Formats: sequence, C-alpha cells, structure tokens
Amino acid sequence: MAHIPSAYAGLEWGRAVTRVGRAWVGLVVVVLVGGCGSSGGDADEVRPTDAKDSSSPPPGRAGFVVRYEEPASADRDAASFLRARRPMEAAVEALGAFVDPGREIAVVGRSCGGEGSAYDPETRRIQVCYDDLADERALFERGGHRPADDEVVAVVAETVYHEAGHALVDVLRLPFDERAEEDAADRFAALLLLRQGVDGERQLRAAVEEYRLSAAEADRADRDAKDEHAPDLVRAADHLCRLYGAAPDRNPDLANTSLLPRERVAGCAAEWTRARDAWLKDLAPILRR
Ligand SMILES: [Zn+2]
Repeated sequence: MAHIPSAYAGLEWGRAVTRVGRAWVGLVVVVLVGGCGSSGGDADEVRPTDAKDSSSPPPGRAGFVVRYEEPASADRDAASFLRARRPMEAAVEALGAFVDPGREIAVVGRSCGGEGSAYDPETRRIQVCYDDLADERALFERGGHRPADDEVVAVVAETVYHEAGHALVDVLRLPFDERAEEDAADRFAALLLLRQGVDGERQLRAAVEEYRLSAAEADRADRDAKDEHAPDLVRAADHLCRLYGAAPDRNPDLANTSLLPRERVAGCAAEWTRARDAWLKDLAPILRR
C-alpha cells in the first residue's frame, strides 16, 4: 500500500482515485499527510448527524448498518439521491441475509473530499462518498448514459459489496496480500450481485461500464501506478467473465468481445465456480443458512 501513509494502513482507495488520476491522488495524499496525526484525522471522523436507519438489525444484534453524515453543501444533491434511491440499504439487506459478521459494520454515506470509498478496519466502517456520486454521474453522462440514475445506483451497490468484501476479509482474518485482497473483494462484489439474479446482473454490467468508461478516459501515460487495485479494464474483464460464467444463457452478448475474447470465454464458467466456492468456503463460519 505504498501510497497510503502508515496511519492509513488498511484503508483502501476505490474507484474515485483510480478515475481521477495522479494529480488528484497527489492532492489526496498531501491532504492526508497534512491533516492527520496519530489519532487518525479526517478519515477516522465519522459523526453521523442522522442515525436513522431502517436497515439496522434489532438492538443487540450485530451486522451491517447504514448511516448518513450531513453532506457538505456541494454534496447535498448527491446525498439526497442516495437517501431516495437507497442502494446502501439494499446492499446492507442483501449482506445481512447472506452473512452474520458477528459485529457491527457500518456503511456510512459522507462527504469524503475526494478520498474515495474505503473500509477502515480500525472502526469497521465502510465509507461511501457523496462526492463520488457526482463524478460517477458525469462519467456515465459523458459516455452517453442519460439519465444515469440507475447506473449510479449500481456503482454504489458494487462499491458497497467490494468494501464489504474487505470488511469480511478483516473479520475472518483471511490471509490475503494486498493485491490478492483487492481481487477477492471484487469477486465478493460479483458474488453478492450475481446472487440477486437479473437485477444484480444488470448492476454488475453497469459497474463494468463504469470501469470501461473510466479506462477510456484515463491518460494511459498518466495511470496511477500507486493504485493497489487491478487496472480498470482488467477489473471489467474479470467481472464480465464471472457474469458470463454464472449465466451464459442470459448474457451471450458478452462473449467473444475484446474484453472477453474467445480463448477466455471457455474458462469463465469454471473461473466463476472457483471464485464463488472459494468465498463460500471462507465465509462458512458466518454464512446464514
Ligand atoms: Zn478495494
């Protein structure tokens, strides 16, 4: 995790950092270094001003919960959209029906000032950034998706599941190195979406489109070499292979394309099965039956 100060070991930086490139990353790191002491700084300050949470488990039960912080003024529309469309609540419900992490893991909507989505193992908190939503919407709109409401909701869902994958790696103390954990988190996101059938497949397609658009806009020479995630097109292709492998009959258009060439298509069913079964094995202690 070379680009993250040691105080932030464990935080990881998601789509926003990948997308906005090196200049922004540099700014983010400067802000973090300048703004955080040993007590953690901004990234550790979550003070929900509104803890209303219809998706919280009953008192005394641990699990995934949703919280919202008051947005910065520039993020009010995005925060209102998130509350209205409720992708975090939907994700928390799906997660809660699937696993029991045995402790509270909060999914917190907040103004992140460009930090990007992340899971913080110190606080067991997933942050979903209001400020990312406007960026995602603009990216989709530049790519010809208008309105992009459903796409933005889908990206939030995939992001929550990805970060939940990190949270469960932490809870279960799974022995991944950094890059392997990122890939496992992507596989977890695919698993949770593909468990939801056609709707989840549609959202996974939107997540792939976001990676594809992001990659198309990126200056290849200026790619953020410090991002611990796989390159966007690799993540897109891996998601497509899982999607096709899980449901080839519903997704024939995905096969034999530049992202999913013929030589890979043949192995996607097995690749998906391995990914699913590996997670189910790791999750066995906390799976709900
Ligand atoms: Zn990650």
